[in-house]
Amino acid sequence: SESGLGQWPHPRWVRVNTIKSNMDEELRTTFAGYKTTESLEEILRYPPSSAPKVVHVDKHVPNLLAVPRATDLSKSPAYLNGQIILQDKASCFPAYLLRPDVEGGDCLDACAAPGNKTTHLAAILHDESRAASRPKIYACERDKDRASSLLTLLQTAGAQKYVVAKAGQDFLRIDPGKAPWDGIGTLLLDPSCSGSGIIGRDETLSVVLPRKEASDPLEVQSKKRKRKPTRETTPNVQRVPEENSNIEDKSSDQLSARLAALSTFQLKLLLHAFHFPKARRITYSTCSIYAEENEHVVMRALGSSIAQERGWQISRREEQVSGMRAWTIRGNADACMDSANDKSINVADVAEACIRCEKGTKEGTQGFFVASFVRQIGNLGTDQ
Ligand code: SAM
Repeated sequence: SESGLGQWPHPRWVRVNTIKSNMDEELRTTFAGYKTTESLEEILRYPPSSAPKVVHVDKHVPNLLAVPRATDLSKSPAYLNGQIILQDKASCFPAYLLRPDVEGGDCLDACAAPGNKTTHLAAILHDESRAASRPKIYACERDKDRASSLLTLLQTAGAQKYVVAKAGQDFLRIDPGKAPWDGIGTLLLDPSCSGSGIIGRDETLSVVLPRKEASDPLEVQSKKRKRKPTRETTPNVQRVPEENSNIEDKSSDQLSARLAALSTFQLKLLLHAFHFPKARRITYSTCSIYAEENEHVVMRALGSSIAQERGWQISRREEQVSGMRAWTIRGNADACMDSANDKSINVADVAEACIRCEKGTKEGTQGFFVASFVRQIGNLGTDQ
């Protein structure tokens, strides 16, 4: 396999943007002459240098395709016009799992740039037949430079008329009780993370330097670092032996400190999301392999007083949207147990409710984590 990709290489994932096109049209045009295969493994088996015309329609996420890695779509009219978006399969899970079309209320993408998930939300919600009652999507991005890439992607994808972009808006500074935020029914929360699940980052960890506030650990530098996983749950990741040199110990301490800062920041955002008075569903996601940023955040959030006051629970596997119910890689129960301080929470159920993706497997995804939270609220749509 290509270096750093694990046992299985990574295909090229293509999301058909249903604002501008549909699966049949793309198979007839962009992928004209392609053989369709039921087997994702067939796509993965082609060497990195070969791009035969073969396409696989994904079984979990609607409107998603895979083609061999070497397939270059970057100059295709469909890509340039925003009919297709190159987006990893795992990164399509949060918007699909959130089901903003079913839950009702407006939708808030709290950490939006560069906008892959925002445009996916827009594609789910754009149905013209429901124009009068269609929920609005608000997309917040605190970093103004990154917000410009969000605006560009919204434009290319034809999503701008469905999305109110809030460039420079810090999600933590939103008052959930004030309009328009008091009408938010669903939140997609995809905060900054270590990026350790990204393909090609097996040995390079995105080093996140916390500013003074723990809520703000966002200056990202890319540095080569040997990582010593603390409680990460990917079984095929090599552990650095204890007898390693002081330098490695130091960098592993730095890694632990950074993961702790990230985890504190991620939890803070999630608890803020729990405060929206009409919210019924939230997805929390990272492209991290580390339990600190994933199961630990979920367990701490579930044990929080705001979760208990407002009735937030994890959305159990059997209640998830069908494609996600069928996804077999789930959270790690030991990692959930590590951070369980509320004995009334069933750790096995929480682990089963969490969705993980591992890079280098025959599923062909990047490393990723997503959990959704739900709560029942009265017909008036508020508990306040
Ligand atoms: N959801 C995006 C997508 O799929 O294209 C990727 C989001 S990226 C992992 C996290 C983003 O959150 C960064 O652009 C970062 O600047 C932004 N961010 C971090 N903290 C924030 C906050 N407090 N309020 C709003 N945006 C924030």
